[in-house]
Amino acid sequence: MATITFYGAARQVTGSCYLLESNAVGKILLECGMHQGGDAADRVRKERFDFKPASLDAVILSHGHLDHSGMLPKLVHEGFTGPIHCTPATKGLLKILLEDSWGLYQRDLEHGNTRRQRRGKKQRELEYTEADVKKVLKLCEPVPYKTSFQLSPSAKLCFHDAGHILGAAIVELILSEDGKDKRLVFSGDLGNADSALMNNPASLTQADVLMMEGTYGDRNHRDMDNTLDQFETVLRDAWQRGGNVMIPAFAIGRTQEIIYHLGCLHQQGKLDNWTVFLDSPMAIDVTQVYDNWLHIMDSEDIKCLTKAGRDSLEGFLPKLQLTDTPEQSMAINKISSGAIIIAGSGMCTGGRIRHHFKHRIWKENNTIIFIGFQAQGTLGRLLVDGKKHIKMFGDDFFVRANIETLGGFSAHAGQKELIEWAVNFDPKPRLILIHGENSALETLSAKLLEDHGMSSEIPSQGDCIEF
Ligand SMILES: [Zn+2]
Repeated sequence: MATITFYGAARQVTGSCYLLESNAVGKILLECGMHQGGDAADRVRKERFDFKPASLDAVILSHGHLDHSGMLPKLVHEGFTGPIHCTPATKGLLKILLEDSWGLYQRDLEHGNTRRQRRGKKQRELEYTEADVKKVLKLCEPVPYKTSFQLSPSAKLCFHDAGHILGAAIVELILSEDGKDKRLVFSGDLGNADSALMNNPASLTQADVLMMEGTYGDRNHRDMDNTLDQFETVLRDAWQRGGNVMIPAFAIGRTQEIIYHLGCLHQQGKLDNWTVFLDSPMAIDVTQVYDNWLHIMDSEDIKCLTKAGRDSLEGFLPKLQLTDTPEQSMAINKISSGAIIIAGSGMCTGGRIRHHFKHRIWKENNTIIFIGFQAQGTLGRLLVDGKKHIKMFGDDFFVRANIETLGGFSAHAGQKELIEWAVNFDPKPRLILIHGENSALETLSAKLLEDHGMSSEIPSQGDCIEF
């Protein structure tokens, strides 16, 4: 008998964490994610493991995003010493992500402790250290896509391309128990077939139990061709107004996709004489990891690069400048027109983008282009909703820049794609819907039953299933 306990991303989208227990393989943790939003130190402190980290035999990680990987250093700090199986590209991204996350955590903890000291309160201790981040990276055991890996004498693991971000995998596990094979497939985060650089998610057909994400279970994405046309028009208008463009973007995936699309426009002679600044040390590092792995990406997109005689994203967009240091970043402030500035954070909750806003948001010839979802309560959301008065760095700003939103970019499969991926399995597996808000999962579940006679279960936090 095998069981899965749902410790995170059950009826919600963050903090992915599932425990698989079986005689065939022992105790395996699928994902070790962090909940998102708010102060990093509070978040790390509040995350608790409802199992003993030292008792786990291994971790399987579908991809690098922190909501799937962010608690690995704390897991190691609390005694986990086993292998962490992930794809080689995920290992490369994990180093950048966990080091960045450690930096944020340490900074927030220090700030919090200074405040606590002033109020005469007890200091908070570190919940994990930089040495734990290093240990996590040492424990990573890369397994390439489509390679069968013997987890134990009675269990095999195979990763398939999920097409979500670089290295993202669909996890397939075959457990041999009592002379019978049981196949568990976990979708990880499934990609959007329209995303640049990423392959379509691999379509699998066999599973006894299928755990599928449902982030966009209740909606479909806008058409990509329209989005790209709109992008071209917005850039042309911005050029005519004579100002600068600011694009808030997440460092992984979206940034590289935008560089690729700008490169395509440039190669087709459709891009005005912009200088593009990638103003984020983390995004610069991630882009280099992407460059190392171009050979595993969408072959049609990579063909465009090689046709242009290029073997890196940087080379594909010759007017790209990487601004790593704070001095280089501040030098951009002096440019009055002709700059496209790509900087984090994606929802404008922090990072260098806010500094660029400070210098430019109050001028009408500038443009801000939003290319990603903006969550409630973020500065990005206020701007998308048309708010004219905002506060940053303790100052008031009047928003005069043009605000544009492009809706077609998403790193997740939309409802239609999720359903197409699920109905490929024959015979129908026992379907478990995870990693989605309640309403998204309920809508997806109803649609699967109504249109395809496929029933599904939606576990809650702490629920356990047997199979
Ligand atoms: Zn993800």
